[in-house]
Amino acid sequence: MVIISKTTFLSFLHCPKNVWLKIHRPEIGEKFHLSEFEKHILEQGNEVEAYARNLFPGAVHVVATGDDALQETVRFMASKAPTIFQATFLVDGFLAKNDMLSYDKVNDCWDLYEVKGTNSLKEDGGESRDHIDDLAFQVSVLRRANIKLGRYFVIHLNKEYVRSGGLDINALLVKDDVTDKVGARLPEVEAQMALAQEYLSQENEPVGGCECVYKSRKKHCSTFQYIHPHVPEYSVHDLSRIHKTKLELLVERSIFNLNDIPEDFELSDKQKNQVYAHRLQKPIISTGEIKKQLGSLAYPLYFFDYEAFGPAIPVFNGYGPYKRIPFQFSLHILRKPDGDLEHVEFLHNNLSDPSEEVARLLEQHIKPGGTVIAWYKSFEAGVNKEIGLRLPSHTALFDRINGMLYDLMEIFSDQHYIHHGFKGSASLKKVLPTLAPELSYESLGVRDGGQAADAWWKMVSPATTPREKAQISKDLKIYCGLDTYAMYAIWHCLQEEVGNPVSKRIPYPPLLKR
Ligand code: SF4
Repeated sequence: MVIISKTTFLSFLHCPKNVWLKIHRPEIGEKFHLSEFEKHILEQGNEVEAYARNLFPGAVHVVATGDDALQETVRFMASKAPTIFQATFLVDGFLAKNDMLSYDKVNDCWDLYEVKGTNSLKEDGGESRDHIDDLAFQVSVLRRANIKLGRYFVIHLNKEYVRSGGLDINALLVKDDVTDKVGARLPEVEAQMALAQEYLSQENEPVGGCECVYKSRKKHCSTFQYIHPHVPEYSVHDLSRIHKTKLELLVERSIFNLNDIPEDFELSDKQKNQVYAHRLQKPIISTGEIKKQLGSLAYPLYFFDYEAFGPAIPVFNGYGPYKRIPFQFSLHILRKPDGDLEHVEFLHNNLSDPSEEVARLLEQHIKPGGTVIAWYKSFEAGVNKEIGLRLPSHTALFDRINGMLYDLMEIFSDQHYIHHGFKGSASLKKVLPTLAPELSYESLGVRDGGQAADAWWKMVSPATTPREKAQISKDLKIYCGLDTYAMYAIWHCLQEEVGNPVSKRIPYPPLLKR
């Protein structure tokens, strides 16, 4: 019988087919590696759980694994331990490990706690999945084990919390009593548990079951290609903001290649342009609009990019959960069209709040009157706003910089420049290799913002050796420096494309090479 843990069950709710493949086709296991993002979320959940344990003095911890964990749990429960961490139960093929199981002496029963590294009961504080299924699964398993249960709680972060001095665990964490919600959800979850057992126990690969064929590319997992080998790597799933109903119409007619979309098929203007550029295999450029936009940018041009790390548990005073630590920036400055390209970079190299230093450097280098060019400017604007709120004496500076922001990405996301090589995306990582193929992130030690945040956290850890720190520092500087140089290179390429007078592109500085 397949053993179904809580994680397996929740993954089953997300996608049965994917879980079946993980269990029964481990030989294609390399396709199932966790993304950096998934790992990060997992680690942050663990970090919050470690802090939440401080709310339960006198607790005992099930540290054994396998059958021994079941025995250890029985012993702790028999001794009426005040709280048990990782109490483990295996009944009817379902495995539950509880974050906290607390004994209620008055009512002679056990209260169940689930810790989440989120800012609310919801996964992201919005419309997405809540955490009730997680608890309902555990309640079902514990009831099968004849455990007398009391109340059920989700412990999550308090998004209003702002650290001031030592960490105040009672203010940082919120306990929500969700007993009634779990009770109401339980019948539905138990029906799904039965379905999961039946589906995942099948010996032969279930036919079909990959609903992502009707969803856009960003919803696909890494097994999509294995399940749908006939779908090209660049397909109708990559059409910009394609709606499910339109995608269904295409898929039902087995139309996957952009070249096969009938002329009379209804698409948005953006989608039509994307298809047209693909068929043409040539860029489509709105010269007038690009010329107008670039012509309106006041010099100096400040090509600017932050790297930031938003830990679940605030590390410094003035920070709340997930507020971003601006540990690095890169700034390339072009003071006039035929000027030199200056480079200013900042990388904070110890575990302290860099906000004051960032403010001092930006005050020094970004003077009023020019244009701050970013790629997806809402990120830079958001980090600026957070620093401005933390440092009232610098609020005006960060408001001023936000007022100078121009988003170079919008040339591409608004389709003033369309290229079949972008494959419907306006991300820097897609645009750069098409417009400046000699510049690439491929061989870098750090290749995206998530990796940069992880690398910085490791760099400032006391456990990291000086040699490792030096390598990480170098990797981070190369990565962030390339981000702003890439913006300059793309800006330069656009200037040439639209026939604006521009001096020769200043080459990629050797300093930035690894
Ligand atoms: S592509 Fe989507 S539906 Fe298909 S297996 Fe992956 S997650 Fe499931």
